[in-house]
Amino acid sequence: MAEKLHPRIDNGLPKESASFAGGTLVCACTSNPVKVKVKGQIAHNHACGCTKCWKPEGALFSVVAVAASGDVTVTENGDKLKVVDSSALILRHACTGCGVHMYGPVERDHAFKGLSFIHPERFEEDGWSPPGFAAFVSSIIESGVDPSRMAGIRAQLKSIGLEPYDCLSPGLMDYIATWTAKKSGALPA
Ligand SMILES: [Zn+2]
Ligand SMILES: [Zn+2]
Repeated sequence: MAEKLHPRIDNGLPKESASFAGGTLVCACTSNPVKVKVKGQIAHNHACGCTKCWKPEGALFSVVAVAASGDVTVTENGDKLKVVDSSALILRHACTGCGVHMYGPVERDHAFKGLSFIHPERFEEDGWSPPGFAAFVSSIIESGVDPSRMAGIRAQLKSIGLEPYDCLSPGLMDYIATWTAKKSGALPA
């Protein structure tokens, strides 16, 4: 039986549109929803199994991507937002009404500083860049998934074209390590 990975990937990946120039993220509140405008196409979209990302009801994974923080603007009902964990690297701003995480900027000195993590499934518009891999797959066990299901879950991710990794993708891990090496002087800045 197929696992419920995420409603936006279980029936095939969403289609990217070359004309997508950004859109509006809307939370799940039926009245006074929080709205966040994002300019431009998103980057590094992926399925994430960590226990911190917001996931829709019943989903094993979140779908999460980044945008430049300067391209992310709260436009409506921002007073409903609250930071979930102010000690975390990603300052996830959740709606206190419905729980959806609307955006999560990285402000600390880090390779991801200046980026905001967002959940593209909350866009009103279609055409955003689809997920390209699955990150922190083993972490779903921490949410209560029996380890015996993992082989099947990894196979299902691969079958829809999402390579499963237990950290981030090699490209992003190299990017972070390069930033750290330049900072320490192990590589020339
Ligand atoms: Zn809400
Ligand atoms: Zn995550």
